[in-house]
Amino acid sequence: MGPMRIDLHTHSTVSDGTDSPAELVQVAAQAGLDAIAITDHDTTAGWDAAIAALPPGLTLVPGAELSCVSYHDGPHGISVHLLAYLFDPASPAIVAEQQRLRLERRTRVRAMAERMAADGLPVDADEIMGLLPADSPAGRPHLAQALVRAGLVRTVDQAFAEYLGAGRGYYLPRQDTPVEEAIDMIAAAGGVTVFAHPFARSRGRVVSVDTLAKLAEHGLTGVEVDHPNHDEETRVQLRGLARELDLVPTGSSDYHGTNKTIPIGAETTPPESLEALVARSSGYRVAVG
Ligand code: AMP
Ligand code: FE
Ligand code: FE
Ligand code: ZN
Repeated sequence: MGPMRIDLHTHSTVSDGTDSPAELVQVAAQAGLDAIAITDHDTTAGWDAAIAALPPGLTLVPGAELSCVSYHDGPHGISVHLLAYLFDPASPAIVAEQQRLRLERRTRVRAMAERMAADGLPVDADEIMGLLPADSPAGRPHLAQALVRAGLVRTVDQAFAEYLGAGRGYYLPRQDTPVEEAIDMIAAAGGVTVFAHPFARSRGRVVSVDTLAKLAEHGLTGVEVDHPNHDEETRVQLRGLARELDLVPTGSSDYHGTNKTIPIGAETTPPESLEALVARSSGYRVAVG
């Protein structure tokens, strides 16, 4: 037996990945992983199906990636993705906020599609929305797929570069959850929080070191150190900050199936980090296949 391989950040078709929750756990087992977390954007809807389909020997850490915003670094909010694990998914505050965010996501994706159509691009907002389940956390990857289908671009990456990125004309913002509120909400539901890809500068503005320290002070549990969007220098910096601020360091692929090129298990989390996250949570249990 080799070392434990753990990937704590993956997406399914319940949000913007391309594997169903059942396929996701199969793919994880085939890749030789020992544990994965399912962390769809703003929903826990994939948990039950992933648990029901768990292959023998695979551990599932139920989670979600929460769309948040920080106002610590100037008047313009900075997008923060917060990974939340092992919280009670029936917590009324969490249920209500995730529902609000999913509606916000669908309204925004429709509005972006309508802007593109108004400009004469061959996309149809009704068709795009019709392909998504009623309660889905729609996102730009769904628009990217529509642009690929329309033959306007060849890949999802190209769609982001040319049409969907924050600097492009079709981008629309969202009303995300203030990050401190999200940390509190998850902690109150027995869960733990990990700041996802904090210094992924290719995605847009990122928070300062000072803000990371404030969030640690506020009760943030961990920080994603090894992520495909972090270069080596950033990883060294974040590993040092994790030690300094007593944050649990994690590593994850942020797998999205064929919506991204990164394979599952491309980055991994040390077993002692997963143990620390489990030890500090009380809202839900890991599932063992
Ligand atoms: P949204 O949730 O609508 O703001 O869209 C952001 C999502 O798009 C992220 O969760 C990523 O999964 C995905 N994404 C961001 N940039 C890219 C890119 N360059 N190529 C593919 N997917 C991307
Ligand atoms: Fe995503
Ligand atoms: Fe993210
Ligand atoms: Zn993600």
